[in-house]
Amino acid sequence: MMTPEQYMDSLRSLKKEVYFMGNRVENIVDHPAIRPHIHAASVTYRLGTDPEFVHLGEARSHLTGRPINRWTHIPQNQEDLVKKAQMLRVAGQITGTCFQRCVGMDALITLYTITWDMDRKLATRYHDRFRAFLIDTQDRDYMTVGAMTDPKGDRSKRPSQQHDPDLYVRVVGKDEKGIVVRGAKMHQTGAVNSHQILVMPGTGMSSEEREYAVSFAVPADAPGIVYVFGRQVNDSRKWEGKLDQGNPAYGVVGGEALIIFEDVFVPWERVFMCGETEFSGVLVDRFASYHRQNYGACKAGNLDVLIGASTSVSEMHGVLKAGHVRDKLAEMAHLVETMYSGALACSYHCSILESGVAFVDPIIANTSKYNTARYYPEVTRLAQDVAGGFIATIPSEQELDNPRVAAYIRKFYKTGESVDPVERIKLGRLIENMTGATPIVECMHGAGSPQAQRVVVQRSIDWNGKKQLARSIVEGAEIPSASGGHTG
Ligand code: SF4
Ligand code: FE
Repeated sequence: MMTPEQYMDSLRSLKKEVYFMGNRVENIVDHPAIRPHIHAASVTYRLGTDPEFVHLGEARSHLTGRPINRWTHIPQNQEDLVKKAQMLRVAGQITGTCFQRCVGMDALITLYTITWDMDRKLATRYHDRFRAFLIDTQDRDYMTVGAMTDPKGDRSKRPSQQHDPDLYVRVVGKDEKGIVVRGAKMHQTGAVNSHQILVMPGTGMSSEEREYAVSFAVPADAPGIVYVFGRQVNDSRKWEGKLDQGNPAYGVVGGEALIIFEDVFVPWERVFMCGETEFSGVLVDRFASYHRQNYGACKAGNLDVLIGASTSVSEMHGVLKAGHVRDKLAEMAHLVETMYSGALACSYHCSILESGVAFVDPIIANTSKYNTARYYPEVTRLAQDVAGGFIATIPSEQELDNPRVAAYIRKFYKTGESVDPVERIKLGRLIENMTGATPIVECMHGAGSPQAQRVVVQRSIDWNGKKQLARSIVEGAEIPSASGGHTG
């Protein structure tokens, strides 16, 4: 397993084509816009190797028996799923932001199960290939981008009906050596600082859309792959100073990027789906459930940090004993624990797939993500409420070195004998950073927009079973045996 330092160094040898603000980034590791995100991802390596955290971050490969980082592990049982959620909450507490590696983890888990299912039903030969890829990933301790979201174009049209056929990743060539793929994946978390990309279809494909039903892995610096790193609110603060960043060590959300595939060659041994349209929908749903499990955990960890900052600032302001402030802080904690409860519940309420892999309860996982998209903004609203308006008007950190006003800043930002005004400003900046636009949009749409979770829940609930329950009650009959939709 790699240590955080080894992970960061390992990225130096990758020859990626990355663009940010109009320029090619030759050295991603030391670039001020990218380095904080790399540092956040390195925490996943810390959890795998630091004795304080290995009880969560280390697992044993079910394929080789060797110790591996849990971010590359395929969950074998309920305990593995619970540990996944616990690990994400801890990593969220350490970073206060997204640590990016879970998308690849969930892609690995999903492809492991789907290749098994496809081979059983269609007599394909994908699973052995995937196992070889997985063992390599585990042994090298690679970080993987799980690339699912296509540009999608007009959302009312199918992939094959778009004005431009490249709006979903597709196969444009095929020979005895492999396939050639074209298109793009958008909003890719951790893309520029991963070692490899694992591409999945972005939606269920119809039987005429065989070229779009494609899954494959490529090295992150394979020829023809171009990255465009996205901007975030206040990102220029990363190269203007330190204090005003709020969270100077780590990034804001996942350092998402657009990945462009310019006719990229993929050898057959790294192709895990090619034309099996009937499995594309189940692949997307399964991946979504595994990834939606996470959000109640990683975001709970992030919000633990926000609750801490809000409590400290309230204390500095002398309002911590006020009943309404205590109520609001308690409400924040209740919402956070509700989010985490969903992540744990879908893990405890798991099933074992035919491939032997533990699968979260999809209805609870989707509900948990849905709640997270609702509660996260509510917790940030409460944080802004208790922290006060000062978080929106703090002078720049440069004024602390401005001889004309520095003493005044310290004087007027000091709220009490024992309060360090710079500490107060730092906490205010952290609250500003965590409650701004980018994290809220990410928790809304990351792992799929809320509407996607509603659709899954609406179609999975046993509505007739629930009607029957009501009918039995009004008729005074015995309650029928449980029939899905979480009656037991
Ligand atoms: Fe992991 Fe959460 Fe980031 Fe997704 S949003 S990659 S689950 S930390
Ligand atoms: Fe995310």
